[in-house]
Amino acid sequence: MNKIRNAMSIDVEDYFQVSAFAPYIARGEWDARECRVERNIARILDLLDAKQVKATFFTLGWIAQRYPQIVREIVARGHELASHGFGHERASDLDRAAFLKDVGDAKALLEDLGGVEVKGYRAPSFSIGKDNLWAFDVLQECGYRYSSSVYPIEHDHYGMPDSPRFAYEVRPGLIEVPVTTLRWRGKNYPSSGGGWFRLLPYGVSRWMIERFNRIEGRSAVFYFHPWEIDPEQPRIPGIDAKTRFRHYVNIGRTESRIEQLLGDFAWGRMDEIFLAPTGAERLAA
Ligand SMILES: [Zn+2]
Repeated sequence: MNKIRNAMSIDVEDYFQVSAFAPYIARGEWDARECRVERNIARILDLLDAKQVKATFFTLGWIAQRYPQIVREIVARGHELASHGFGHERASDLDRAAFLKDVGDAKALLEDLGGVEVKGYRAPSFSIGKDNLWAFDVLQECGYRYSSSVYPIEHDHYGMPDSPRFAYEVRPGLIEVPVTTLRWRGKNYPSSGGGWFRLLPYGVSRWMIERFNRIEGRSAVFYFHPWEIDPEQPRIPGIDAKTRFRHYVNIGRTESRIEQLLGDFAWGRMDEIFLAPTGAERLAA
């Protein structure tokens, strides 16, 4: 194990809220769907406890409102409570006033339920990019201290390939912490979570994080979702082949891979790694 502590993050949402399912599941149907997030978060919290890892939970206001116990449990077990916005709308689909309401309401509700300051925000589907950089002004206005909302890659649903790959001050007092990418022959590749983690053999994912730590000398940012460790989740009928593949590929193997990943590296909360005084990013727990 190398000496660098990486950041572990979980986007707290249910399987039916995934952006790629939006064409198939209307928002109005969310309440009628079988909920899996409580069970999945309970499993994740136990996994983290077993490995003595503290992580960051970017939690949806929609989930917090219906399952406040999840929020209290995250805080009680020593993890960082952060915001994934309220209704899981892409930031790029909202105008400034609607975005302000979404991120402001989520922060207020989470702080109320959790009794802690909510410092971090992650946009659904990494939806801050070159066309809506005003979103950073709004986050700053709301009192967020960091964001993890830009993915510096090319992707059909998101991404801003020419933006910085490492944490940087994007507005005074507001840091953007991009999800980790590997740079190879002038291009950035996703290397820290999401569908790629399920698709690629575990050894490749581990190698990418090791390589990032070694070459860049920085903390990686890894992310996953509660539904990714849930092979029993109800299947959504009628979805196109690409969406089906991306959502379900190797879904039965992810929990054991996460378990392995937690043991193979040192991990910590986003706020402790990226908001701490200089140099903390490089130190092991
Ligand atoms: Zn999300």
